[in-house]
Formats: sequence, structure tokens, C-alpha cells
Amino acid sequence: MDLNLAGRHALVCGASEGIGRAAAHELALLGADVTVLARRPEALAEVAAALPRVASQQHATIALDVADAVALRETVGRLVATRPVHILVNNTGGPPGGRALDAGADDYLAAFQRHLLANQALAQLTVPGMRTAGWGRIVNIVSTSVKEPIPNLGVSNTIRGAVASWAKTLSRELGADGITVNNVLPGYTRTQRLEQILHDRIQATGKDEATVSATMLATVPAGRFAEAHEIAAAIAFLASPAAGYISGVSLAVDGGRMQSI
Ligand code: NAD
Repeated sequence: MDLNLAGRHALVCGASEGIGRAAAHELALLGADVTVLARRPEALAEVAAALPRVASQQHATIALDVADAVALRETVGRLVATRPVHILVNNTGGPPGGRALDAGADDYLAAFQRHLLANQALAQLTVPGMRTAGWGRIVNIVSTSVKEPIPNLGVSNTIRGAVASWAKTLSRELGADGITVNNVLPGYTRTQRLEQILHDRIQATGKDEATVSATMLATVPAGRFAEAHEIAAAIAFLASPAAGYISGVSLAVDGGRMQSI
């Protein structure tokens, strides 16, 4: 099985921690040059310095907020002008919790900007280089809510569906260029995002953390939360040469939690 990414350049967003950081690590292990993107330069410098590398590998950082459309286009535009990106991992923090009906227009607009419009700008910036190479991978980190909406994550559920439909459309537009587009749907994964979800549920129910965790895990056949590297392994596989005939899928990595087929 060909998992070799030597000579490929990956741009991994939301990479200062959590699933994004773990994805950057796995892609570097497979030989890719990795540019890690998130908001905090110091955190990114630490992440980039800790990435696996052989002598020829060059890792880099980009510090920006993906919601800043102007900075995103300028900075990533400069990057692709010097180093084409072959692998784009679209990822950022999840929207705050709450009921769909209670969210304001601003909440929906902010999530649309940070998830869908940022992904679109990044795809527009990176696809020309992928086309020139005749090879490209776009992997979007979304959520199982694409298939089964999760209670009390109204804005998130809504925006994930939009991203998944966008990705499916894009996969059909780019297939002939040797570019695949897929989504990874993490289950409950031990990161800051899970801490936030646990915190929200503790606040909403008045129950303690052990009870809230147990209630969540009762829905997971694997009986445990995922580690970030387990989600990252799926991302890295979809980015690899071996996955060249997989496009337009939404792959759940959720310990069997989803009930739909
Ligand atoms: P996380 O909060 O641990 O990490 C998010 C990363 O994105 C961090 O590096 C953060 O600095 C960066 N980021 C946040 N906002 C940004 C912005 N505006 N611009 C640039 N970078 C930004 O999250 P995670 O658990 O790694 O999750 C990644 C994605 O997967 C999120 O969309 C999350 O909602 C989703 N997800 C997570 C879980 C889970 O259980 N952890 C489950 C389902 C879906």
C-alpha cells in the first residue's frame, strides 16, 4: 500500500492543537512537508518544531484567523505562489453549542464564514497548484452531525451539512484533475472541543462530569472516547496515494456511534 507523501506539501488548518495538530504529525510521518495554520504564532512554532522530519522535509507556519477573509487570501496566496499545496486539510474550531432556534443570524453568519467560506477560499487558492501537479487531496474535518444532527449543537449541525454538500459537489468537479475531496467525521475525541462539549452539558444538566461522560459513552459501542491520532490516521490515509480512488465520501471515525448505515 502506497502511503508515501515525500515531496508533497500539506497545508493543515486548525493545527495548533487537537485533531489538526495530530493530522499534521501523521502527514509529516508519511513524508509530507507540512505548513501548519492557526491563530497563535508561538503555539504554531512549537507544533512545527515538534513535527517529525527527515533532512529534506521543510515544515512552516502561518498564523492567522481563518475568519479574516482578506488575510487568508493574502497570506495563503503568497504561500502557494512559492510552494504549491497538494494536500489541504480544512479544519477549525467548532461553533458554540445551543439550540438551533435560539441562535442569532450573527451566529450562523460567523460559522458560515469560518467553515464554509474559509474552505472555499482555501480551495480556490490551492486547487490551481494541485491541477498543475495532476494530484491533490482536500480533506475536510466536519462532524457525525453531517448524517445525524446532535442535540444542542444547532449552528454546528447546520453548517456541517453545508460543508458536506459543498465537498460532495467539489469532488465531482475536481475528479478529472486527479484531486479527491473527502470529509472525516470525528466521533467524541479527547481534545479541547470535547472539554467544551462536556462543560456545556454539565452546565445544561447540572450533572457531574463522570455522569455526563458515562451518558455520552453509553452511545459509543467502542466504550471510550477517541484519541486525536485515531482521527488523524484516517485523514492521513485519505491524503495518501493509496486512497486515490476514494472521493466524495464522509468517513465517520466514531467508535461505531452513528446508527445510520
Ligand atoms: P480543538 O478546539 O481542539 O482545535 C481546533 C483548532 O482550530 C485549534 O488549533 C484552534 O486554535 C484552531 N482554530 C480555532 N478557531 C480558529 C480560527 N478562527 N482560525 C484559525 N484557527 C482556528 O478542536 P478539535 O477537537 O481538534 O476539532 C476539530 C474539528 O472537529 C472542529 O470543527 C470540531 O468541532 C470537530 N469535531 C470535534 C469533535 C471532538 O469530539 N473533538 C467531534 C466532532 C467534530
